[in-house]
Amino acid sequence: MTMFTWFDGRHDFLQYVTQIKSYQLEAERYLSSQREVSGYCAACRGVRKFTVNAGVYFGPLPNLREGLVCECGLGNRNRLIYSAIALETEDHADVQMAILERTSVLYRRLQETYPEIIGSEYMGEGAKGGTLYPVGGISVRHESLTELSFSSCSLDLIVHNDVLEHVFNYRKALEELYRVLRKGGTLIFTCPFFFRLDRELQKARILADGSLELLMGPEYHGDPINAQGALTFYHYGWGLLDDLFRSGFADVRVGVQYDVFSGLVSNNHPEYEYGNMLPIIIRAAK
Ligand SMILES: [Zn+2]
Repeated sequence: MTMFTWFDGRHDFLQYVTQIKSYQLEAERYLSSQREVSGYCAACRGVRKFTVNAGVYFGPLPNLREGLVCECGLGNRNRLIYSAIALETEDHADVQMAILERTSVLYRRLQETYPEIIGSEYMGEGAKGGTLYPVGGISVRHESLTELSFSSCSLDLIVHNDVLEHVFNYRKALEELYRVLRKGGTLIFTCPFFFRLDRELQKARILADGSLELLMGPEYHGDPINAQGALTFYHYGWGLLDDLFRSGFADVRVGVQYDVFSGLVSNNHPEYEYGNMLPIIIRAAK
C-alpha cells in the first residue's frame, strides 16, 4: 500500500522539506541523468520501466513531475493521484466517483478499476454541464468547476488534477465541489502548490466587462480540448487550505508521498525556494 505523510500546516511541512532536501536533490540529480529507470507503478501494481524525460523542461533539466512515465502511460503526477485514489477507495470499485478529465490515460487506467467513474472535460464557455460533446471519436461530458451539473450530496469522491489554477473564480469552484459531495465524501486534487507562499499569487483576472487582464507574464499549460492551452490565474499557497475550510470542508490536509522507487519525486525545478514542487496532493473531507 502506498504511503502518504499528511500535513495540516506550513510549519511541519517546512520541517519535512528540510529533512529530505539533501536526499531529494541527490536522487533527482541521478534520475535526471538517466534515460530510463525501473520503478513501482501503483496502477500497474508491479515494477515497470519509467521513461525519465517526457519532453517538458526547466532549462536543460527534465520536469520530473510530468516525466518518469511508466510503460502504461502514467507519469509521476498521475501515479501520485492514482495512488491517492486507491488509498481513499480502498480499491472498492463501487464508489460514486467523478474525475474532471476524460481524454487522458489516467481516466482510462482508472476506468479499468472503477468502471462507474464519471469523466468530463471543460468544453469551453457556453457548453452545457452534463451534456456529451464529440471529441476525437468519443463522446465527452462537459463539466465546469464553477457550475457542476452533479446533484448535491451525490458523490463519494471527486478528483481533479492540475485544473484549479486555471479557474478564475476558484472559491466558487471549492463551494461547488463541497456541494456535490456526500457527507463524509472526499475531494482529492493536485495543483501547483508553492510551499513558501502564504496567500495565493494572482497572475491574471477577468474584469467586470469579461475581458482578461494579465497581472504578470502569461503562463499557459497544456489543455486536451483547447489547443491554445489554459491560462494560469493563480499560484496557490497555504491559504488554499483556509479557503477549503471556508467552503465547508471539515478536514483539510496536504499529503506528500516522496518515494524515489515509485518515481514520485519533485518537479526538479532548479529554483528550490519557489519553483520546486514536491509530490503532493490536497485532500479535503466533507
Ligand atoms: Zn504503470
